[in-house]
Amino acid sequence: MSELDTFTTRAVAGSGGDWSARYSHAVMDTFGSPQRVLVRGEGAYVWDADGTRYLDLLAGIAVNALGHAHPTLTAAISAQLGTLGHVSNFFATPTQIALAERLLALAEAPEGSRVFFTNSGTEANEAAFKMARRHSTGTAGPGTRTRVLALEGGFHGRSMGALALTSKAAYREPFEPLPGGVEFVPFADTAALAHAFSSEATQARGEVAALVVEPVQGEAGVRSLPPGYLAAARELTERHGALLVLDEVQTGIGRTGSWFAYQQPELGGGIVPDVVTLAKGLGGGFPVGAVVAYGPHAATLLGRGQHGTTFGGNPVAAAAALATIGVIERDGLLAHVRAVGEALRTGIAGCANPLVAGARGRGLLLAVQLTRPVAAEVARLALDAGFIVNAVAPDAIRLAPPLILTTDQVRDVVAFFASLPDVPTPGEA
Ligand SMILES: *Cc1c(COP(=O)(O)O)cnc(C)c1O
Repeated sequence: MSELDTFTTRAVAGSGGDWSARYSHAVMDTFGSPQRVLVRGEGAYVWDADGTRYLDLLAGIAVNALGHAHPTLTAAISAQLGTLGHVSNFFATPTQIALAERLLALAEAPEGSRVFFTNSGTEANEAAFKMARRHSTGTAGPGTRTRVLALEGGFHGRSMGALALTSKAAYREPFEPLPGGVEFVPFADTAALAHAFSSEATQARGEVAALVVEPVQGEAGVRSLPPGYLAAARELTERHGALLVLDEVQTGIGRTGSWFAYQQPELGGGIVPDVVTLAKGLGGGFPVGAVVAYGPHAATLLGRGQHGTTFGGNPVAAAAALATIGVIERDGLLAHVRAVGEALRTGIAGCANPLVAGARGRGLLLAVQLTRPVAAEVARLALDAGFIVNAVAPDAIRLAPPLILTTDQVRDVVAFFASLPDVPTPGEA
């Protein structure tokens, strides 16, 4: 028996016990009660402690790009850990350097672009926020670009900086005061965005350092920015000397059917951003995030000693990301995501169940719009039927399955939504 077997199996051995009770006595109650205790995964399926199988249509919230226990990813992580698992950032490793080069190539980033590695999306956005603060020299001199714009409905993480960029009052208010200068502009409203850059706004509140946006808002219920918005945002930020920061933590690395969502003509229209943040799908389930800074100006906003991390860019995380990207490319998963995503979206939209109003999103980042606010109950029914989904809004279900989802699995999901029983609206029963 190996050491690993000794310690992990000993810790859970013989305790088929009441995991939910043990959870609530040992783990902080930030997430509410767990829906199930999961013990194993393979491909797009996971199994719970009772041996029940579920089709995982959430993939750890858009994380497990290659599904569970993918042999290539497992081998890459194991091989790297068995060779060199961690070094300080006083040293470099070949995997880290190769991953930085790979991301710059996927981003088609211009000469002078650079990458900073993190462990999460929050940390990537925190770094981007610090870049916005450094990009502070306005027409009136150093330190005069005081404003950072973000979108209503946007989600960027839970640290104080990332939270300051996140619009949801219930997340923000218990933790105020947050870093200042952030203003929220209405979602998908180019006129309101233009107004935030107007001389009236600038004279009243100062110049804009950065605009931070998700090409598709994930936590807000899978809401895509309309065609032309990002192009307008690029034009305004460029004209006014502000950074355009795209949060692709949820949309990046193939999720929407292209490496980055902004690369799709309908979303980005060929723009080049200043900063893109990544995490979720990047490591295929291993924690890793990245900030891609486009061009020499953005790439040098954080100088020596101005930012750091112990774990960010560690060789195991880099190996996981290289393997994930490699499999997506080798197996043609970008085209696959476009095809199965379209089949899933149109299948659900056409399933003729009175509770289903439609389906939206791109690739395999989708939301099922319900006709009534019964998403929590639908998610419970789904779990009982063997499907993991997410009630992302009172009247919407988010689907973000592994990118390896098969057409047979699409058929099973469509059949589930087609056969949904009538569900009473909360409060009306
Ligand atoms: C999940 C998410 C984050 C936060 O990432 P963590 O890895 O949970 O810190 C930030 N931005 C977006 C768009 C996300 O979906």
